[in-house]
Amino acid sequence: MTELLYLYDHYLKEFDAKIIEILEPNSIVLDRTAFYPKGGGQPSDRGRILLQDGSTFEVVDSSKDGIVAHTLSTQIERSRLGQSVHCLIDWPLRYSHMRHHTALHILSGVVFLKFGARITGGQIYSDRARLDFALDNLGKDRVDVIASDANKVVSENHEVKTYWMSSEEAHNSKDLHRLSADLLPKGLDKLRIVDIVGFDAQLDGGTHVAKTGEVGSIKITKTQNKGKENKRIEIVLS
Ligand SMILES: [Zn+2]
Repeated sequence: MTELLYLYDHYLKEFDAKIIEILEPNSIVLDRTAFYPKGGGQPSDRGRILLQDGSTFEVVDSSKDGIVAHTLSTQIERSRLGQSVHCLIDWPLRYSHMRHHTALHILSGVVFLKFGARITGGQIYSDRARLDFALDNLGKDRVDVIASDANKVVSENHEVKTYWMSSEEAHNSKDLHRLSADLLPKGLDKLRIVDIVGFDAQLDGGTHVAKTGEVGSIKITKTQNKGKENKRIEIVLS
């Protein structure tokens, strides 16, 4: 089982590991990894894996389906199984994902607090992000309020913490008021919470910045009507 380092340290940029499985000629499993596997709207990390003989492999994708598989741009020999490696995360890309991910939590918190609307979908890109809300009206007045409130949360520089709790605690937590009981995953003994302290807490497996100030200025660049009860908001950061 791979130790998922990215869940515990969002700022880990390089780490040592061992190749414990070669799934396909260009797909490997490590005993520990900080490569975020795409999921929850956050794209996968990219980066490099350095072997002890000096050879380098590019990681072009990372996905999790029970195990975390790292897709390499070139094939790796079977004889590499068991070897120790040093891994480097493409940090500018990952940090951009972190800033956008925290920005989306701020956005969803603001839209929920103001209009009671829940999220119906979302996606993070390297240079922008979008969220869809179960909202019937998204006029210019509302967009202006959302942008202004979101940037206020950024400027207040709230701490962003992660912690774990049991599903029972999550059911009883008043901080997780946005998660209705039936939305909590079942059969897990531990749930991971991302808490923008004093503002909004959500169940989340993604990577985030440590303080909301790191997000930078949030600009709503586009809104889209995706249906009567479905509105899309797209943001860019600067
Ligand atoms: Zn999230």
